[in-house]
Amino acid sequence: MSEAIKSEGIKVKTLDDLIAAGLISGKKVLMRVDFNVPINNGKIESDIRIKAALPSIKKVLDANGKLILSSHLGRPKEGEFDESASLAPVAAHLSSLINMPVRIDREALNSDPACVNFNEGNKEVILLENVRFNKGEKDNSDELSKKMAQLCDVYVHDAFGTAHRAQASTHGVAKYAKIVCAGPLLMSEIKALEKSLSNPKRPLVAIVGGSKVSSKLTVLKELSNKVDQLIVGGGIANTFLAAKGFNVGKSLYEKDLIPDAKDIINKIESKGGVVPLPVDVRVAKEFDINAKAEIKSVDSLDDDDQILDVGPKSSENLSSLVLDAGTIVWNGPIGVFEFPEFSQGTKALSLDIANSNAFSIAGGGDTLSAIDQFGVKDKISYISTGGGAFLEYLEGKELPALSILKKRYED
Ligand code: AMP
Repeated sequence: MSEAIKSEGIKVKTLDDLIAAGLISGKKVLMRVDFNVPINNGKIESDIRIKAALPSIKKVLDANGKLILSSHLGRPKEGEFDESASLAPVAAHLSSLINMPVRIDREALNSDPACVNFNEGNKEVILLENVRFNKGEKDNSDELSKKMAQLCDVYVHDAFGTAHRAQASTHGVAKYAKIVCAGPLLMSEIKALEKSLSNPKRPLVAIVGGSKVSSKLTVLKELSNKVDQLIVGGGIANTFLAAKGFNVGKSLYEKDLIPDAKDIINKIESKGGVVPLPVDVRVAKEFDINAKAEIKSVDSLDDDDQILDVGPKSSENLSSLVLDAGTIVWNGPIGVFEFPEFSQGTKALSLDIANSNAFSIAGGGDTLSAIDQFGVKDKISYISTGGGAFLEYLEGKELPALSILKKRYED
């Protein structure tokens, strides 16, 4: 295609662009979705991800596209069929949701050239079998990618949660398909992330909680260049407290990373911001779900105390920062929220984010569990579906699946 199609400053073609240009009608459209749903004994336990894909599916069908869907499910061994990781239950469930036949296809990629044959006359959707059964998926093999590309006239990437992976069904196929574009779900993720980080309403407040600085060091460093205030929580905050010279007793913390914590504090403070640290904490002698919490001032810990949550005064301090924010980016709990006695800090923070007028975006597995647990789902402006992809975006990394769509923009 010679004429580049514009889409709101983000230089990728979108499904809407292609529909408007009449490029979907009558065409074979291969859409990478995320149907990685929990299945137990053939029963789907949560269909949230399938339902999330319905608007995109409807768009293609309403535009008269011939729809082929692809997805991964679990982590089966590559090169082997494994009934327990088959997408067959998803095909049956999707069929009942869209009220039309959904045919699972295990052969499409085995012929040469690869092809799918739609049942003429009777409209149907084809769901390719679990992409992870194919040899070459993980290695982004050219051979498999080309075969996937042969299946379609248009490739649509609509699975943000897989965008940080350069694999055949997320990246390689987009090198070779005739026309490629971003799907509506992918676009809404990218727009929400761009809105939070590229041109945010200030003050921009990031909250990074969780267990270890080491697993989030790159995110912390990247965010310290961008944000006005950086709230650290959980085991991460313990390392920052140690950096300020507090005795953190037996708490989880990383001594080696104290210099990094100091650098991050300095960077934020040199911009006039703060890294607010707890003034009081909830401690226990054991890391145990039944442990009783004791509230202590942060400068009076015993050597056998473990910090498992922030105390009420600390929550109050965080409250004003969160309520005054223009934009909030949130990843990670600020305490062991899975233990009832130590869930208050994360609960108070979730409620503050919910009550803030800021544009708020949250992502990551534990963060989503906390959002569910504290019932604030409807009050977060945008909940990202991508754990790894969300973090890598915050780290400032290019997501391979997105880079290839950008590269193909001018085609
Ligand atoms: P992450 O996987 O790094 O995002 O960390 C999430 C986990 O950190 C959750 O399971 C929390 O229970 C845990 N966590 C939060 N605060 C603490 C803390 N103070 N000490 C130990 N673990 C914590």
